Parts: sequence; structure tokens; C-alpha cells
Amino acid sequence: MPGMLYLVPTPIGNLGDISQRCRETLEQADFIAAEDTRVSLKLLHYLGIKKSLVSYFEHNKAQKGEMIVQRILEGETCALVSDAGSPAISDPGEELVKQCAEAGITVCAIPGPCAVITALSISGQATGRFCFEGFLSTAKKSRKEHLESLRREPRTMIFYEAPHKLLNTLEDMAEVFGADRPISLCRELTKLHEEVVRTTLGGAIELYQDQPPKGEFVLVVAGAVPEEKAAATPEDAARRVAELMEKGISRKDAVKQAATELDLPKNIVYDASLR
Ligand code: SAM
Repeated sequence: MPGMLYLVPTPIGNLGDISQRCRETLEQADFIAAEDTRVSLKLLHYLGIKKSLVSYFEHNKAQKGEMIVQRILEGETCALVSDAGSPAISDPGEELVKQCAEAGITVCAIPGPCAVITALSISGQATGRFCFEGFLSTAKKSRKEHLESLRREPRTMIFYEAPHKLLNTLEDMAEVFGADRPISLCRELTKLHEEVVRTTLGGAIELYQDQPPKGEFVLVVAGAVPEEKAAATPEDAARRVAELMEKGISRKDAVKQAATELDLPKNIVYDASLR
């Protein structure tokens, strides 16, 4: 019988956020795959758990992934943890889940701390529809391309960002989305200095120019307001019918086309075209 892969979320700042189920899973797993074994050892020490650890991080994941899959296929159960938060969300782990799924291994995710959801819920922005954009590239060109692709995104957008890159990112965002776009900067979540700054992109730039950003940030940016098309008037209809008739189209067909284009009833367009 193959074992299983458990994704075990760990606190993003407050150790009290570890759940009973996460403790039990860590205790019962045959081994733990950890992004940084030193970070995870501190947590295990706090929980009083002694367990064999395997390092699994960005630069060894190809080779370690195969080894972990093999051990699970041989019947062992693995608990995957990252440095903080939910494994596989902007963390190594995405690849391991894929490999396990392909090998027919059951993957079980335990719900728990996750910076993106914690930030969204306290952002004050619309939460009904949102998109998570992870980290933007450090390369200016691809960062701008990524933002450009979101220029008309109507859903609330969530980004992870490192403090030393924050100001550049805010400046690029203001260029693409406009300085008046609302943003909530969620900093040091669940920690002593947790803070949510609800402002605009322009306001955030001013703030962090004066006071260099410190700590961990999630940026929750309001979606674009859909451009409202002004309702067409009978005068617009008359103009459009005249234009079409000048091209040799019959009044009947011009009225039909203009009514569709301008979303007006045909009789209104017809009457307007006669005036
Ligand atoms: N997998 C983790 C999760 O989804 O919770 C995120 C890991 S990602 C490598 C780290 C990023 O998450 C940080 O750069 C920051 O943007 C965000 N983050 C993590 N902990 C945070 C906290 N306590 N407060 C604000 N942002 C945090």
C-alpha cells in the first residue's frame, strides 16, 4: 500500500495558529519534507516533536521530489511543510503535489494559515471575486508585462512582495493601474506589528518614500471599474443611420444595424432617422 502526502500549513507569524490536526499529522508522519530544515526544526522543537527531516526546496526539488515519491510509494507517509503558511502556494511543493498526483499517490491538504487569504479577508476590498498573482518578476520588463496583462482585471488582485522591492512595484502598479487605484497593504500579519494600510497606489508611494518598508507584505489591489458606456441617444442613432445610408445601405438595413450597434429599439432609431 502506498503512503500519502500531507500538506501541513504552519503559522505565518503566530505560533498559536498551529492546529491540533497539523500537530497530529506531523507526529504521525514517517518523515517531514521541509523547505528549510532549520526553520522547521524550531517549530518541531516548540511542538515537542522529534522526526526525521528531508530538505525539499527550490533548487533540489527535482531530485528530492523523486526520492520522496519513491518513499511514499513504498508505504511511508510524508508531511510537507514550508517556512511559513500553506505549502505549494508560492512555495516549493507545487511540483511535489504534481509528481505525487501523477504517481497515483493521495494528497491531503490540511487547511490553515495562508497569507493570501488572511490578507484578503482584512483588506476591506471586494472579496467576492479575486485573483492571486503571487510574486511579480524581479525583471522590470516581465514585471511590467505581468501588470499590463492585469490592466482591465475587474477582480481584486493579490500579490506577495518583498519589502526591498515594494516601492518599485508600487510605482509600476501606479503607472499601469493609475495612482488613484485603492490598495490595502497588509503587513506582518498575525505578528506583534500587524498593520493594514488602506490607501491608494499614489498614497502608498508617498508613505513608503518617507518611511522605508519593513517586514512581510501582501498587497491587495482593487480591480478595475468596468468602463461604463454612455447610453446612446436618438441623435446618435440619426447620425449613425445617415453615415450608413451615405455608404449606400438602405434605410431599413441602416436602421437595423444602428439599432443593434447602439442597443436602441428599432422604432426609435427609425423615427430619429426621419427627423
Ligand atoms: N505559502 C505561503 C502562504 O501562502 O501563506 C507564502 C510563502 S511566500 C514564499 C512568502 C510571502 O508570503 C512573503 O513574501 C509575503 O508576501 C507573504 N507573507 C508570508 N507571511 C506573511 C505575514 N505574516 N504577513 C504578511 N505577508 C506574509
